[in-house]
Order: sequence, then structure tokens, then C-alpha cells
Amino acid sequence: MPGCFWPGAGIGFPCRHSLSTMSRPRIRKSLRKKIAADAGYHCGYCLTPQSFTAMPMHVEHIIPLAAGGSSDEDNLWLACPLCNGHKGVQTHGSDPIADEWTPLFNPRKQKWQDHFRWSVSSIEIVGLTAIGRATVLALRLNHKHLVRARRRWSSAGWHPPVE
Ligand SMILES: [Zn+2]
Repeated sequence: MPGCFWPGAGIGFPCRHSLSTMSRPRIRKSLRKKIAADAGYHCGYCLTPQSFTAMPMHVEHIIPLAAGGSSDEDNLWLACPLCNGHKGVQTHGSDPIADEWTPLFNPRKQKWQDHFRWSVSSIEIVGLTAIGRATVLALRLNHKHLVRARRRWSSAGWHPPVE
């Protein structure tokens, strides 16, 4: 089964997005480079810098192709393998406070700081809004492997990332 590997955490896991890559429209290399630069070379969801992953991040479809999204620039952003793998074909998630279905965070159109903040320890991401809370859950932004890595980065003075 195709999968992703998160070298910093030493884990491999299946990711739903990689299962249908054969039918995906090709995204030009120049556009991939532009997306990465526009995203500041970090994941649009968990803010992990590309330089921490030891492998290229994914250019993800904000609205998945399976949900009718396009491969146009305005539907593309940078995501780490964990976030992209957990997102899969999801476009919405459940806000645990309001118990309502809500759209997931759109890193191209929305500001991270409007929907999330770092916990006091800076190890976990806290959702501030329904969109933020639903996205934290759906993309597992506080997955144990991310939390473990953030602890290590924090002890080295590399975390939280500075905008
Ligand atoms: Zn991420």
C-alpha cells in the first residue's frame, strides 16, 4: 500500500491521498515551487517547517479532487505528510463544542492566527473557532508524533515557529 513516511518521528503510515495519484492532473514544477514559496515553506495547518521534515512537503488540494476541487493555483497549498494524510478527502469536520459540521480551515484564504493558537507550553495547537476546533480534530494536529517532535524542537529552541 502506498504511504507516507515521517522521518522525524520514525513512523510510516498509509495516507488516503496517495492511493489515487495515478489519475491526478500533473502540477507543474514551477507552480509547486511557487506554492511552497507562497506558503513560506511550512505546512499550512500545523506550521511545521519543511526544513524539519527532511523531505518535501506535499502540494495539497484544499478542496480535494474527489470533492470537486481543481488543480488550479487557488486550490493548492503546502501541507506536511501527516496533515495531508489525515485530511484525505475531507472538506468538513465536527466542532466538538458546538457539535456541528463545519468547513475545515483553508490555509490560502484564512489566517492561522484567527482560528488557532499554541497552547501555553507551545506543544499543542488549540482551535479558537469552530473551523479551528474541527480542523484540529480532523487533521489530528496534536497527533502524538507531532507533539513528540514539537517537544524536541522546543527543547532545541526551534519551536514554536515564528511567522
Ligand atoms: Zn502539518
